[in-house]
Amino acid sequence: MKTITLLLTIVLALGAGISAVPAPKAEDHFTLNKVADGVYAAVAKTGGLATGNASFVVGDEGVLMVDTFLTPAAVEDLIGVIAAETKQPIKYALNTHYHLDHTGGNQVLAARGVPIIAHEKLIEWQTVKNRRFLPVTDELQKRREAEAKQLSEIPADQADKRAPLERQLRRFDALMTIKLTNPSVTFPAGTIRLHLGKREVILFTLPGHTGGDVLAYVPDANVVFMGDMGWRKTLPNLVDATVNDWITSLDSLLGQYPNAKFVPGHGEVATAADIREFRDYLDDLRTRVKQAIATGLTIEQAKEQLKLPEKYKEFGFQNFAAPNVEDMYKELKGTKF
Ligand SMILES: [Zn+2]
Repeated sequence: MKTITLLLTIVLALGAGISAVPAPKAEDHFTLNKVADGVYAAVAKTGGLATGNASFVVGDEGVLMVDTFLTPAAVEDLIGVIAAETKQPIKYALNTHYHLDHTGGNQVLAARGVPIIAHEKLIEWQTVKNRRFLPVTDELQKRREAEAKQLSEIPADQADKRAPLERQLRRFDALMTIKLTNPSVTFPAGTIRLHLGKREVILFTLPGHTGGDVLAYVPDANVVFMGDMGWRKTLPNLVDATVNDWITSLDSLLGQYPNAKFVPGHGEVATAADIREFRDYLDDLRTRVKQAIATGLTIEQAKEQLKLPEKYKEFGFQNFAAPNVEDMYKELKGTKF
């Protein structure tokens, strides 16, 4: 239960930004970036209802959507953006992994009859493990009521104090619209090719973030969609991670695509140098925690004493710093799974 509370706090905190907005609009959820011809990244905005990035690839016979954000509302906005860019229908959607901030909008695609492709592990995980991020409605309702009570005690003229609570309430409301929805096409570790007419997209698996991650490569644009195998200037969620595998996966990816553009699961569109910086964060974390274990620190002492190196202080999601130490410690001790 403690873990559920922590994770829910994180999911909610990820949406808590600074500026006040009266109601969420399309442009409040994400910023659209053109990465190459017919290749777009929708980068999640702090405080919106997207949380994770999503993307789309336009071919001459259909569109691939990569990930479906945290909420149906955000993915509806993305569908609107796609319709404004092209008359081609959405032919496929991909879930890069099961985490709710990448699959929360699945129901919208399923209702439109769009096949949702994913690693085969998602059939086991999608509607079960996501309960860590999405408590049942009664629980959400209780939290929403507590939040609403707090808001009612703040005078109407204190807009700056009301804004974060109002944002949380919108988030609770959006979370309550989610019906955890499985993908409809799955594959084991390996590669499959999607054909959007002349344009090809290669889907492939790599271990590291969850053990059920799929990446996508567009050869004619030299763009790699990483899902949460890549984070740009952002501390990662390691709750399901195997960092040892992850570092190896990133080394092989960077070796294979040294000049590609990378669309990460969180943060702006990245270069190989950005992905290397993220790889080095994982490597630094592993080294620091190894040393902590060697000097006999307990997990609590390690979390307390290992301060984030200065160069990562500007990264987003600073709330993940201590949980990263804990997850790394458990992985190295063999007590994580
Ligand atoms: Zn993730």
